[in-house]
Amino acid sequence: MERIGHYIGGKHVRGESGRRGPVFDPATGTQTHEVDFADVPEVDAAVDAAREAFPAWRATSLSKRADIMFGVRELLEERRADLAAVITAQHGKVLSDAVGEVQRGLENVEFATGIPNLLKGGFSEQVSTGVDVYSIRQPLGVVAGITPFNFPAMVPLWMCANAIACGNTFLLKPSEKDPGASLLIAELFKDAGLPDGVFNVVQGDKVVVDRILEHPEIRAVSFVGSTPIARYVYETGTRNGKRVQALGGAKNHMIVLPDADVDMAADAAVSAGYGSAGERCMAVSVVVAVGGVGDRIVEAIRERLPKIKLGPGSDPESEMGPLVTKEHRDRVASYLDSGREQGATVVADGREDGRYGGEGFFLGVSLLDGVTPEMDCYRDEIFGPVLSVVRVDTYDEAVRLVNENPYGNGVAIFTRDGGAARTFQFEVEAGMVGVNVPIPVPVSYYSFGGWKSSLFGDTHMYGPEGVNFYTRGKVVTSRWPDPATSAVDLGFPRTR
Ligand code: NAD
Repeated sequence: MERIGHYIGGKHVRGESGRRGPVFDPATGTQTHEVDFADVPEVDAAVDAAREAFPAWRATSLSKRADIMFGVRELLEERRADLAAVITAQHGKVLSDAVGEVQRGLENVEFATGIPNLLKGGFSEQVSTGVDVYSIRQPLGVVAGITPFNFPAMVPLWMCANAIACGNTFLLKPSEKDPGASLLIAELFKDAGLPDGVFNVVQGDKVVVDRILEHPEIRAVSFVGSTPIARYVYETGTRNGKRVQALGGAKNHMIVLPDADVDMAADAAVSAGYGSAGERCMAVSVVVAVGGVGDRIVEAIRERLPKIKLGPGSDPESEMGPLVTKEHRDRVASYLDSGREQGATVVADGREDGRYGGEGFFLGVSLLDGVTPEMDCYRDEIFGPVLSVVRVDTYDEAVRLVNENPYGNGVAIFTRDGGAARTFQFEVEAGMVGVNVPIPVPVSYYSFGGWKSSLFGDTHMYGPEGVNFYTRGKVVTSRWPDPATSAVDLGFPRTR
């Protein structure tokens, strides 16, 4: 069985702990690789490599750092298809979606090419007689990223592009379910001229995460994953004195007002509900149908479902691939039974698709109508191709539903009424809002992050907030020797 190991100090390193986990091809259900799980000494070796590389890397000029980022961008562009193929083989998403993921990741590298501009400080001349003040931002040191299975290339790139461009050295702990992409990304950075030790990858499980959270040399941790683990990472990391941003799970609502273009809303709900088999933190999970639009939107969604082609991600005809593991697929499918038992109507049952129960971890598109907030299918993050429809009478009820939900990642409203949309963006409690846009993932020069249980910490990820997260400010107050302004003064410094 082919093994997937670590990448430390610019070299591929085989794991020595003896602990390993399986990696599957979700389309066939067969195990294709074994991934090494690091123990504490291997994490420490990666941190040592990063610590040793830090002084020279932080002293590397901004133009040289930008140059390397331009190189990474070119190589990502060139190797986009290879990277997408690895993603599809281990995650299961269709190739076009994997290519899209690489593209959104690449945009973060593009943003990081602007690092000379992004790290510009402020300067105030003559704040006092002969005294100037300027602010600078400096890197933190060794920083770590812990990433989820659902975007094995994009989420690492959200983190590492800015972290490295800001002058930090980086340690990535990818998901153990689809670890292959991480090594390819590490190689691309090296090929673009990144010095050894600046980008390290350590594969593994909770043992690695816990060592990252307690290692005294690691200054900051970026995490993306489920809410319980995000909370744990945030609480443990901050208790150990680290800067932490931890993005958690989601339950994204899409409100459809009675005046919406129903066909457009149905296209959007289907695309955002079932794209990547619903394994996106920005997937639409709940359609909230307001007033009389319920029957029309359910019917419009229902009639689109039979046309969705379920199949292996590597088949260009497929529009939706399998789920990541059998356990996850079975858990997702269980919401169809609990939904029915708790009173929802199963409009489409993905277990009736011929691929369910055969080779691979497939589940067809599923639709539940008449869902209410007490049901498990509403309360839990399902993270699969199960879309729920909640019917409410008024816009106010719809907004209340969203605002009372513990998650606050993405949300969307579909309407032709600009005033309603503006009121919505003003009062809705979520970090990313779409107006007639179902998956409002911010472009790389804004920042990504939810509210409430979808984010622990104060800083959103990537974009300008990413640069702030990976740097700390310093303000210099300076005066050149000038005998005319020199005198002994024991008072507190005042401006003159
Ligand atoms: P996960 O929380 O199971 O795993 C995320 C990372 O944490 C992985 O690297 C994993 O190895 C590690 N981990 C798992 N269990 C751990 C434990 N007990 N202790 C320490 N570390 C542990 O998440 P996942 O299943 O890989 O990804 C799906 C989840 O990620 C969903 O909840 C989804 O909404 C969320 N997600 C959120 C965003 C966002 O931006 N908010 C983006 C993508 C995914």
